[in-house]
Amino acid sequence: MLCSPEELLQKSQALSNTWQRYQATPSFESFVELAVSINSFTEFLIDKGITGLHHASHQLEQVTLTLFNKDVGHPLPQDAQDDLNARVAALERMATTQATATAGLAERRHDPQHPTPHDMRVSQTWLIGQDHTAWTGLQAQLGYFGMNATFISWDETVPETAGGAPLLLLDLSSLPETEWCDRVQSLRQRFSMGQLIGLGVRSDFEQLQQALRGGCDSCLLEGTPSHAIVEHIMELNDRHDQEAYRVLIVEDSKTASHLIRRTLEENQIASEIVNDPRQALNALRQFNPDLILMDMYMPNCTGVEAARIIRQHSEFLSTPIVYLSGETNVALQVDAMRLGGDHFLTKPFNPVFLNAIVRSKIERYRALRRTMYHDSLTGLLNHSSGKNTLDMVLSSVAHEGDVMAVVMMDIDHFKQVNDTYGHPVGDQVIRSLSWLLKQRLRKQDILCRYGGEEFLIGLPHTDAEQAFTIMDRIRQDFSQIRHPFRDRHFLATVSAGISTYPLYQNGDSLIKAADEALYQAKREGRNRVHADRA
Ligand code: GH3
Ligand code: MG
Ligand code: MG
Ligand code: MG
Repeated sequence: MLCSPEELLQKSQALSNTWQRYQATPSFESFVELAVSINSFTEFLIDKGITGLHHASHQLEQVTLTLFNKDVGHPLPQDAQDDLNARVAALERMATTQATATAGLAERRHDPQHPTPHDMRVSQTWLIGQDHTAWTGLQAQLGYFGMNATFISWDETVPETAGGAPLLLLDLSSLPETEWCDRVQSLRQRFSMGQLIGLGVRSDFEQLQQALRGGCDSCLLEGTPSHAIVEHIMELNDRHDQEAYRVLIVEDSKTASHLIRRTLEENQIASEIVNDPRQALNALRQFNPDLILMDMYMPNCTGVEAARIIRQHSEFLSTPIVYLSGETNVALQVDAMRLGGDHFLTKPFNPVFLNAIVRSKIERYRALRRTMYHDSLTGLLNHSSGKNTLDMVLSSVAHEGDVMAVVMMDIDHFKQVNDTYGHPVGDQVIRSLSWLLKQRLRKQDILCRYGGEEFLIGLPHTDAEQAFTIMDRIRQDFSQIRHPFRDRHFLATVSAGISTYPLYQNGDSLIKAADEALYQAKREGRNRVHADRA
């Protein structure tokens, strides 16, 4: 899970508190507050990929919304209150269970003395079905990507896992349809933060409904080939890697800025406050926000002036700026936007509206950045941003007096792959190597598509021996992946070269040395890793 257990508990507690406040003073206003709080919790859960809890929270939200539509007064009728009470309590219980289960794991993750091992991102995976032999192919394919899927039958009990958030692959085709909903539901309750994927579902409406109603996060239809299942799982993993949104608040009033900050916090958006616009540039560089909320009127400089100054710096040219002001003069608002603003919100702001605007602007901004800094085929950093990131990481590693490894990896005889199977199949091979790398490496590692079928990898706090072990394992596993072609499959291999800091002192010389080591590996016969130990 991508939030701390404390954060989850805090959010769930906040929801319970609004429910208690409603019960103490049952008015339409306090009911609105409850609805907003449930909505905020639901968004938090989906944001953090806590899908099981999300399911329960979403249902609670739906129930609450229907109570808006009906002609109901406040206090709510007793049966509605009892229902809400039970749902809120169940949600809080689930949150507590999950938070406790993940506490140990989260501690390890955040302890800088114990850097995340290179296989940490792999969650425990269970394949639940009846006939093991039907799934050995999928199991093997997942294994090469570092996911060890353990097969158990429907009669057995899925054991508790350390993380509490396993990936459960359910072979629903091996269960009578009448049992689907109950079976899935009971797994959902036990592993509320896990991912549940239904396999072998026929595409008819009722079957999908049963599976999704029970709490499956997604379903794959009967006959989906195992490489497509693997692809689905890899894409799912990718999506959960989103960092929290960041907003810089430039606002001279301390009261107003804290109010904004609190609203953003409730929506899981991180923020920094600058009360003097002259500090905005520094804050931008340090905090690297996704969006700037800019007050219109400040003592030393107006918001429009500050925005123009910010826009003089090319790196902030596309950072969205949303003005906040009591100003209702339309002509002035138009002017403000003409001069480098993206949107205008008037104070006192509506928190729901503020959240919606901020989110949608940030989503678009992030999508834009992805196309600027990331490669479209693999989603990895592109050539130039990979090199820039390497320089940045290297300077912090040097500052700490630590070590770092740089790897160049290249697919062997890739021209032949293209020539034999065609360019689109070649592309798919490149993507599967990028999945494998994403799966195996840590968040702090640099992963870049350096050229066509060539990857640049940076491993901070890793020496030559460790890097060799990690890369050689990846090399071996990649060589086992079956790349589908028509009704057959083929295999491919990679070679890699490793160089290290402080043996080589800057980004360019590290890349050059790793490249030479790569060519050494190619000369020695390919499908191997060569480390430059000087
Ligand atoms: P070696 O083992 O020496 O690396 O042999 P190789 O055939 O892989 O040689 P090289 O690395 O020089 O060839 C790279 C080939 O990769 C050439 C180009 O046609 C192909 N290629 C480059 N970019 C892409 C891409 O985005 N998609 C596909 N399908 N092929 C690409
Ligand atoms: Mg002001
Ligand atoms: Mg090659
Ligand atoms: Mg090449």
